Amino acid sequence: MREEITSSIRARAQDLQQELVNMRRKLHSHPELGFEETQTAKLICKKLDQLGVKYQSGVAGTGIVGVIEGCDSGPTVGLRADMDALPISEESRKPYISKISGVMHACGHDAHVACLLGAIEVLVELRKSIRGCIKFIFQPAEEIDLGAKAIIAAGGLKYPKPDAFFALHCNPDIPVGYVGLRSGIVMASIDNIRIEVTGLGGHGAMPQKCVDSIVAASALVMNLQTVTSRAIDPLKPVVMTVGTFRAGTASNIIAEKAELTGSIRCLDSEVQQLLPNIIQNICDKTALTFGADVELDYENRVPVLVNSKSMTDIVRRSTLAVLGEDKVLDIAASMGGDDFAFILKEVPGTYFHLGVGSSEKTRMALHNSQFDIDESCLSIGAAVLASSAMLALEELQQQG
Ligand SMILES: [Zn+2]
Ligand SMILES: [Zn+2]
Repeated sequence: MREEITSSIRARAQDLQQELVNMRRKLHSHPELGFEETQTAKLICKKLDQLGVKYQSGVAGTGIVGVIEGCDSGPTVGLRADMDALPISEESRKPYISKISGVMHACGHDAHVACLLGAIEVLVELRKSIRGCIKFIFQPAEEIDLGAKAIIAAGGLKYPKPDAFFALHCNPDIPVGYVGLRSGIVMASIDNIRIEVTGLGGHGAMPQKCVDSIVAASALVMNLQTVTSRAIDPLKPVVMTVGTFRAGTASNIIAEKAELTGSIRCLDSEVQQLLPNIIQNICDKTALTFGADVELDYENRVPVLVNSKSMTDIVRRSTLAVLGEDKVLDIAASMGGDDFAFILKEVPGTYFHLGVGSSEKTRMALHNSQFDIDESCLSIGAAVLASSAMLALEELQQQG
């Protein structure tokens, strides 16, 4: 990429810093849950109108899909930001604390939106140097794993079909000014289970006349741990978490029903395919042992997120160009998940981490009620998105 383009991306993103802070704070104080991002979408559309960019709102409910058309035909590169917040009550003394009770941007999606808007503004000004198309998606409902799927179902990846796609995510463990990158498997798959155990209720003093659903469900919780320790290759990590266990009404009544829900993560799509049968088998055998009825509801929610090698290399080179040497850190794969994985199943691309940490305060973990970012990350995120898009267009063009 020409040095002239790199330096104008760097300079324009810098100029936008205060504007991006204002936008991020507006979004931060008005967080909205998945598929309810109406005010967020309105704010985004207002900005896109100012920039004179073509877009469609109301995609998959609250999503926005648009394009920046370059001066000449060529490939299409996509950029995505998720918009939704979490059901958490924010604890903060900052002036931009959430005004919506019980809802908070604790995963930094407010920053993702600001970064993408910044990137769009920078790219609009570079239109004369763009040969091809930049597609952008403001995606709803990432936290509930449904937004990316809904955007794809609504045709968000068609007309034009992107040849590459990028997205960033805040990472408070990475100092601001740095970008975390990894090629290959980056994030885990997410599957959910709901298990209903039905026994025979009765008097707490006469267990011989009952089938105790709590005892059967307790055994099931323990047996499920053998998925990771006994049934799967130990070199292939799996997390099996039972998150809820509901049963019983009184101390002297044997509960007829117990319900468990859980989340299962892994870093290998072949392992993900094996899991439903293994878990069904454990449910069946446990049911037999206790004479209870066990119903398993197994849901594949999100696939493993895999970054393309060539696109990761593009983000690496564009980051080094706009931020300078040593600004890329290698990151480990995580058992967390992101539904950007659905987009990466359709289009090669890269999901990278944007450093947002600087002091103890901004190092609060994602999804914590005190989570915050070092806002100087915003122009950096915008610059890395814009330069990665430009470099990808250039390289795809050369490949023909
Ligand atoms: Zn999150
Ligand atoms: Zn997130």
